[in-house]
Amino acid sequence: MSSQSTGLRPWRQRWNALFQDHEIFIRTHGHVRFVRVSAVWQKRVALIAAAVLLAWAAVTVAIFVNQLLSADERAEVARKQAAATAAEARIAQYRDRVGEIAADLDERQAQLEEWQKTYFGAEALPAAADDDKTGAAADKPVETSAVDPRLPPEAQALARIEARQEAFSARLLAAVGARAAKAEGAVAKLGLDPASLVRNAAAGRGGPFIPFRGRIGAAGALGKSFAALEGALFRMEVLERTLVAIPSGQPAHVLMLSSSYGYRSDPFTGASAMHSGLDFPGPLGTPILAAAPGKVLYVGQRAGYGNVIEVDHGQGIMTRYAHLSGFTTRAGAQVAAGQQIAKMGSTGRSTGSHLHFEVRLNGVAVNPRRFLEAKADVLEVKDDARQRVGALASAATGRGTR
Ligand SMILES: [Zn+2]
Repeated sequence: MSSQSTGLRPWRQRWNALFQDHEIFIRTHGHVRFVRVSAVWQKRVALIAAAVLLAWAAVTVAIFVNQLLSADERAEVARKQAAATAAEARIAQYRDRVGEIAADLDERQAQLEEWQKTYFGAEALPAAADDDKTGAAADKPVETSAVDPRLPPEAQALARIEARQEAFSARLLAAVGARAAKAEGAVAKLGLDPASLVRNAAAGRGGPFIPFRGRIGAAGALGKSFAALEGALFRMEVLERTLVAIPSGQPAHVLMLSSSYGYRSDPFTGASAMHSGLDFPGPLGTPILAAAPGKVLYVGQRAGYGNVIEVDHGQGIMTRYAHLSGFTTRAGAQVAAGQQIAKMGSTGRSTGSHLHFEVRLNGVAVNPRRFLEAKADVLEVKDDARQRVGALASAATGRGTR
């Protein structure tokens, strides 16, 4: 305590030294007045001045701090406003997109439904392919987990619709794949190469396949699955149409000379020559039948063939019936499988009444024997395909020309 007062003493002494009693003489009009300014009074004035100064400083600092704070607040408010404006802009932009997305989904739904109706009719689609791989997947609902919970409610609703559409598309794809595989197996058993058939068809593509173009979805997941579905449908249709076009019907109800296709000695010259068809010997006038449904391309004479009929079955497949004695159809007519088109004869380079039957695939003669000897399982798939393609054809006529 004493040491503290000892420490303060020099300061107090300096403070007291600042203030000393002063006596001031003032002379006015010859009179001299005497004013005394005491040290105590000086100290009081100094203290009051110091207090006023302190108060002023405090107020100034307070005002300054307050101004700083409000500037901060103003910046914060501005920031919030900017964020709100940006959010509003995003929402407005999203609202515009909602219309677009909804229209896109609508368009895709219409396309999916049309595909299902066109290719499967009233047939129920088989359950999704992964259902039989994992039993747990069967009770899995539409993947709502894939929907981003941060999206606005409208967007979530659309995303859920999109997920359902995706699931439906996947089921359709699986069904198309299964059918295409069946047709592929049958086509292969008939000795044709399914891959090259699809390739050839794709090269000359143009028919009813109009690539699906979404407004915004082409790049999205659904765009990809649509492209896959489109490709699978094209492949399925080519294989099924080929299967239907394959002339597996007997062109005449007589025994064929199954060994007659290929190189043999020419009955006229005796030299080895390529025989590009099968011969069916039989009585003059025996009914000649279309081996597959198709359109009559040509009715008339050709050198060596005599009276000849050519029928186009589509998919690059053509049948030729030669040495005929008469015709029962005309060029341009649509004929069914098994429908009579001509009568057996011996016109052209023929040694006796018989049918010369040729099958050409993209202009190249192929041995018709494997088509005519198709086994029951292949014929069953073929018949299945015929009904489907038939339905497709009548649906196409109903819709108008394509
Ligand atoms: Zn022949």
